[in-house]
Amino acid sequence: MTRTAVVTGASRGIGKAIFNRLSYEGWKTFNLDILVPEEHEGSWIATDLTNPVSISNAFEMLRENGPITGLVNNAGVALVDRLENSSLNDFERTMAINLRAPMLCAQEVLEDMKQEQFGRIVNIASRAMMGKTHRTAYGASKGGIAAMTRVWALELAEHGITVNTIAPGPIATEMFTHANPPDMPRTQEIIGTIPAGRLGSPDDIAQGVAFFMDERSGFINGQLLYICGGITLARGGS
Ligand code: NAP
Repeated sequence: MTRTAVVTGASRGIGKAIFNRLSYEGWKTFNLDILVPEEHEGSWIATDLTNPVSISNAFEMLRENGPITGLVNNAGVALVDRLENSSLNDFERTMAINLRAPMLCAQEVLEDMKQEQFGRIVNIASRAMMGKTHRTAYGASKGGIAAMTRVWALELAEHGITVNTIAPGPIATEMFTHANPPDMPRTQEIIGTIPAGRLGSPDDIAQGVAFFMDERSGFINGQLLYICGGITLARGGS
């Protein structure tokens, strides 16, 4: 049976790798993103995740394709600054995309998953939730999504739905390069703290997502997996 999954923010970066991997694994996959993708445009639904109406419109269109039993809340923004310079606008934008949108997307797929008595939800957090400078709103949003994961896992387990979190370490994407320009000594310092000796790739994250999304992973629920090259064990970028 072909199952349908939604990946948010799959036009580039980690989301794109997750989209490709789930498609390879046999999921019929849709991409909710504000950015026009370079490929798979047929599976893209233009969505502004800061806007609840845009989100509900996207799912209304999607439901014509049958029940949605997979959701990967991947899209996120990292607006980085020290506490004293953190603005209310940036805080609210971060929360809208990184925390509110995942809740709204999960609410949109609940009925389908309950009816099918099967569902897989994976939330993408970040190692930064353990503590990283310049990330007041980002860290809070990622700690929040990890907490929501555990709540949803408890509430939904009886319906055959699992909810898990992946917390990536530094992954080579546009987001990482924007927040950590390659020429900055600090960036080299971060790479130097990764026991694996390299940045992660989007495919490294897609590997973990595919594991949680697998039908055979039904007894793995409410868990948090760091995919970080071991950096969570090391000193890390403080
Ligand atoms: P990315 O390269 O910036 O990709 C994020 C995607 O989400 C982009 O296509 C972006 O579109 C889209 N998006 C942003 N705001 C949106 C909105 N309002 N509505 C719809 N789509 C929106 O990010 P990434 O590095 O792949 O990160 C993916 C996830 O992994 C995020 O949740 C991030 O926090 C997490 N993560 C990343 C790293 C890392 O090192 N890269 C580490 C830890 C966690 P635009 O380009 O138009 O904004």
